[in-house]
Amino acid sequence: MPPISLSVPLAGWLCPLHEVPDPVFASGMLGQGVAIDPLGDVLHAPAAGEVIGFHEAGHAVTLRLHEGVELLLHFGLDTVGLGGVGFTPLVRIGDKVSAGQPLLRVVLDEVVDGARSLVTPVLVTEPSGHAIEWVAAFGPVEVGQPMALLVPDGLAAPANGDAAAFEERLSRDVRVPLAHGLHARPCARLAETLKGFDAQVRVAAAGREASLASPTAMLRLAVRHGDTITLLASGPDADAALAELARTIEGGMGEGAPFPVGSATTAEAHVADADAAVVQVTAPLAGDVLRGVTASPGIAVGPVWRPVQPEPPIDAIGAGAEVEAARLHDALAAVRAKLGSANGGQAEEDAILGAHLALLDDPELSGGALALIAEGMSAGLAWRRILHAEAAALRATGDARFAERAADFLDLDLRVQWQLVGTEPPIVVAPAGSILVADDLLPSQVAALPPGGVAGLATARGGPTSHVAIIAASRGLPALVALGNAVLGIADGTTVVLDAAGGALEVDPGADRVNAARAEAALREARRAAALAASSRPGATADGHRVKVFANFGKLDDVAPALAQGAEGCGLLRTEFLFLDRADAPDEDEQAACYGAIAKALEGRPLIVRLLDIGGDKPAPYLPIAVEENPALGLRGIRVGLARPEVLSTQIRAILRATSSGDIRIMAPMIARVEELRDVREVLLAEAAALGVAAPELGVMVETPAAAVMADRLAAECDFLSIGTNDLTQYTLAMDRGNAAVAGGIDGLDPAVLRLIAQTCAGADRFGKWVGVCGGLASDPLAVGLLVGLGVAELSAAPGQVAEVKATLAALTREHCEIVASEALEASSAAQVRALAANLLRKAGL
Ligand code: PEP
Ligand code: MG
Repeated sequence: MPPISLSVPLAGWLCPLHEVPDPVFASGMLGQGVAIDPLGDVLHAPAAGEVIGFHEAGHAVTLRLHEGVELLLHFGLDTVGLGGVGFTPLVRIGDKVSAGQPLLRVVLDEVVDGARSLVTPVLVTEPSGHAIEWVAAFGPVEVGQPMALLVPDGLAAPANGDAAAFEERLSRDVRVPLAHGLHARPCARLAETLKGFDAQVRVAAAGREASLASPTAMLRLAVRHGDTITLLASGPDADAALAELARTIEGGMGEGAPFPVGSATTAEAHVADADAAVVQVTAPLAGDVLRGVTASPGIAVGPVWRPVQPEPPIDAIGAGAEVEAARLHDALAAVRAKLGSANGGQAEEDAILGAHLALLDDPELSGGALALIAEGMSAGLAWRRILHAEAAALRATGDARFAERAADFLDLDLRVQWQLVGTEPPIVVAPAGSILVADDLLPSQVAALPPGGVAGLATARGGPTSHVAIIAASRGLPALVALGNAVLGIADGTTVVLDAAGGALEVDPGADRVNAARAEAALREARRAAALAASSRPGATADGHRVKVFANFGKLDDVAPALAQGAEGCGLLRTEFLFLDRADAPDEDEQAACYGAIAKALEGRPLIVRLLDIGGDKPAPYLPIAVEENPALGLRGIRVGLARPEVLSTQIRAILRATSSGDIRIMAPMIARVEELRDVREVLLAEAAALGVAAPELGVMVETPAAAVMADRLAAECDFLSIGTNDLTQYTLAMDRGNAAVAGGIDGLDPAVLRLIAQTCAGADRFGKWVGVCGGLASDPLAVGLLVGLGVAELSAAPGQVAEVKATLAALTREHCEIVASEALEASSAAQVRALAANLLRKAGL
């Protein structure tokens, strides 16, 4: 049998398979092969054969050659998610093709935005008794040039073998105690430490190696807390370098005391990744209705808008290695100068700028780009290739904390690309009245949306009690989450009705429905305006039963809009939001100033400061918590403060110092046991005595079923209770509030949750203590009457909902609320409770 020759199927840059930023391909799990970073837009047959597979998304072709050999040509990574956009198949399953025949045409501009990478693996998935000799050199390749020879077994030449030359190296195993593993900062510090030695040191972890001199390469290893790494050193002072590096790492590098190691493995995460890669997106049709979960109530009608980051033009062809290297050098210097002199104004922004500066100085990034430039690439393409590969490699680790850093590389790529073209990036403005559709959103992205632009949010993933949902509700922006991938298939500009309260996204539903929805939205707007006009009166039912209506804050800027809505105080200051993206812990002075400023802005109205609620879905870089198998049940809320007494007492001292600025009270999150309350009280009394000030009231957040059933015992020792219905719901129903797979069942109006609220109110009442609600239920018009009927005395809503909550209260009587609440306690489902509550509102004319 003669050998089968394979020719290059796509013009571009040929690279080894292990460089593909996706472990499923890079590991060779699907077969041996190579990859091509494409410059061409037509994929050709590498040899004659038959098309035996053509994915319906158009991105992957399988060919069967002579003697049963099979090839997979997979255009880009995660391109299946594009649902066919940008791909035009030129052949069909069953077609016989000749060598070099065009198989697939790709509109690169369309694919590049939605794909994780354009890198195209070319794999021999079934060698059928052939050995493979790869003959093309890595680097630029043209269609049709020889790529590989498939030689029947027995005829193959001995493999070249690309193992690195053996070198005498000293090695030492080190277990990493750093709570966040080897993330960017420790990687940079280790590289710095190494500069004091002449030795070359590499790090091996989970079968991969990286130079310790390159923080970026180290980061790619995704070494976590508890992992054992091997340090490999060669050179004159290898011994001393190993000893010093091992001592530094084992000493924890100031990253907190180690915690027990979680057992989720990278391998498992990779399997999940591979599964996710085969998710299909079918474009919804006109008239389709997608079901999601209400994150913020309301209705909005508008065109779909999927924001696209503006891209500068990138030169496809370089003007010569020297010119391009100089261009990159100048651009990096200019960006470094800009970042160095920039002042984000906010501490978090400054921290991000600092992180970008550190990456700019990483020799692996600039060195990698310069190597590509030397091969003939333009500065822009080379920089992009290196930075996108880094981002993709971090995402492919399967570890959320490392994956989040991918955005920094993409940001930095864009900064340099805009510098290369010499212009500032245009500002992305949402079309007025549009519905923002996204896979998922970051809280910061929602917070950055300017008022008056987007009319509603619809995401494929996310949970109803996520912090994105909280911010959307605080802005009165209707939002649906957990709509599934189908939402991403809706074409830009398609008119949709976002019925957030009803949990439905209606795709191009026809003129009648659009008009009716617009009328409903207008009616809701009129109601909101009327509620706003009446918002200055104290919160009370129609028959005069007083219920205070407060607002939840996450920053100083929340105060003014909340007061404009008639907030009578702050029932929950989420202090962890104030310093969430900080690399260093805020000190006592900084905290005291921040709490004092918010208390002052409230002009004497009560301010309930919640002690830091970090952990679970709210990580804070400055307070590292080890990877936990089950973070919601792990070290979070008050447990963190009690485990780190200095963090708790610093915050308490700061709050005590701020008490001179207003009416401040304190509350503790995630209390599950009376002893925890006692421990916090002890710290509070000790710090108050040391500062010579009176201890303010101390409340307990009821967020665990344990706290609800023990409410009487807690009430005996605290000053008030405030129910966090977001967490209470997740713990009662055992449904993760951030997990879209169970988000459909998370409903705070579930009778199980209502029974715990009733139990809390009864327990508190025994000791004459008041109960508030500061979770999402306090903002839900359907819940307001029920909560009042169950005995809740204070509702702390999202700032944008305060006026409506007051208006709802004002339309109800206490007696009606109590009757419906007792019926709801007898209900057997959340749907039944919702029907009862809707009936109560209807009867009240709402
Ligand atoms: C809650 O759990 O309901 C709550 C108010 O706290 P957070 O949403 O910040 O966890
Ligand atoms: Mg909570």
